[in-house]
Amino acid sequence: MHADPDCIFCKIVAGQVPARKVHECDDLVAFHDIAPWAPVHILIVPKKHIVSMAQVGVDHQAMLGRMMMLAPKLMHDLGVTGGFRQVINTGVDGGQEVNHLHMHVMGGPRPWRKG
Ligand code: 5GP
Ligand code: ZN
Repeated sequence: MHADPDCIFCKIVAGQVPARKVHECDDLVAFHDIAPWAPVHILIVPKKHIVSMAQVGVDHQAMLGRMMMLAPKLMHDLGVTGGFRQVINTGVDGGQEVNHLHMHVMGGPRPWRKG
């Protein structure tokens, strides 16, 4: 499926729902999470509606490589210098709430961390 009319991330990709976009290319869009868990919290999504990592195939390999490698570039561009996490939740037991594949990229100082 190219786009799901009921999917919030498809609507963000299409510009039908506003988001603070930080990147757009042929196959990916990245934008700030609406409810950040970290000082800098970006979501990277494929433009095509892919439900989750449980649905990916060999055709998605190049896109997934670009998604993985976009994270350090965005963190650098956004001024994150101390490191970051890349997280993909898959399915109900994986804590996935939006059923359009996305990678969380979370950076910035962690105030709860000791030391
Ligand atoms: P999940 O639990 O599916 O891995 O994460 C979904 C993420 O999408 C959550 O962190 C949530 O805050 C974010 N999110 C949900 N709806 C919207 C939205 O309309 N706009 C933006 N920017 N983020 C959203
Ligand atoms: Zn979608």
